[in-house]
Amino acid sequence: MKKSVFSKSFTQQEAIPEHGIEQAVQVMRTGRLHRYNTLSGETAAAAKLEQEYAAYMGQSYCLACTSGGYALHIALKAAGIRTGDAVLCNAFTLAPVPGAIDNAGGKPVLVEIDGNYCVDLNHLEAMMQQSRARFFMLSHMRGHIADMNAVVALCRQYEVTLIEDCAHTMGASWDGKKSGSFGKIACFSTQTYKHLNSGEGGLLITDDDIVMARAIIYSGSYMLYERHGTLPAAEVFADIRLDTPNYSGRMDNLRATILLAQLPALAENCARWNARYQALEKRLSKNPRIQLAQRPALESYVGSSLQFRVEALDPRQVSAFMSSCARRGVELKWFGGAEPQGFTSRYDSWRYIGKTPPLPQTLAILATTFDLRIPLTFSIEDMEQIGSIIDDEVGSILDR
Ligand SMILES: *Cc1c(COP(=O)(O)O)cnc(C)c1O
Repeated sequence: MKKSVFSKSFTQQEAIPEHGIEQAVQVMRTGRLHRYNTLSGETAAAAKLEQEYAAYMGQSYCLACTSGGYALHIALKAAGIRTGDAVLCNAFTLAPVPGAIDNAGGKPVLVEIDGNYCVDLNHLEAMMQQSRARFFMLSHMRGHIADMNAVVALCRQYEVTLIEDCAHTMGASWDGKKSGSFGKIACFSTQTYKHLNSGEGGLLITDDDIVMARAIIYSGSYMLYERHGTLPAAEVFADIRLDTPNYSGRMDNLRATILLAQLPALAENCARWNARYQALEKRLSKNPRIQLAQRPALESYVGSSLQFRVEALDPRQVSAFMSSCARRGVELKWFGGAEPQGFTSRYDSWRYIGKTPPLPQTLAILATTFDLRIPLTFSIEDMEQIGSIIDDEVGSILDR
């Protein structure tokens, strides 16, 4: 029998909604693309986006900036990091996270993950005791949310400031509370492959007056900070505006306009991601040699990617499996490789962070973990086809 081949691209996102394109063209017609270039009485799109996203998150403040990684960087600065400070972070994440810690002068202290790709809470507590870090940058990597009530309790107990990296959990929640509302600060990315798409972009949210005033000044507001969409009282800025450097990283009105057009459809799109995720999960769960993440009842996730393990594969079989899936059009990513590839990198390839103690649990989990993106341009039938190709190829490698 001829083997089926999947032919769509794993990196093809949906188009920007038509009304968003029209509004973006309008912004270009005005020529006022810079966020502080406003007519009197006019609210810039960047400021409107801040108002709408803060309201969506139920938080007081939002800052729109250039990228998710930039937001993480200034989040640490605004939270008061000093050069050389230890910053805890889960070892399974993407390169912008250790990069942001390094950029803020911090030193990443890596924490093990568990079999569901969440931070390992026992190891987290051990590392809190051992490192005495004052910061924890928790990446909800690939949308897997740890027990946030336990995370928050540990942070309280050890006086650690929690900063959430919600690049993969925009629209998700834990125990009915939005992901990004547990920490002192949360950061989101609007880079093309995330849940809102402006090519590049970042959103920082907080309820804290001082953090917000600092973040606004860091982002490069000059003395035009009063034009921001969500703003602490003027007196909060009195010293901060003079004590805080300008690390230019503003969002522009063109991107903000594109994002404003997408925000109303976010919840609906999250449901579309989940329908696709669940179709694939259901198909893969028929094969007992494929291990899927358990999704806790308290977690309301956004399935924009799916991870699975085939623990029976040895290292040689891992690459054979990836190649045979690729030949049939199914592009899997592997986070277990010693050499970083594309978007994926294993923590021990971040050589600039210095020697890190071995993390055997994380390495063992990642050794047989495969990852695939779920763009909304895929249909439910596509997910079933992808699932059957993976199922097939697991069989042909292991029964060879
Ligand atoms: C994308 C991403 C970021 C930061 O995103 P950029 O906007 O590309 O800087 C941070 N953390 C994770 C886990 C990401 O996937």
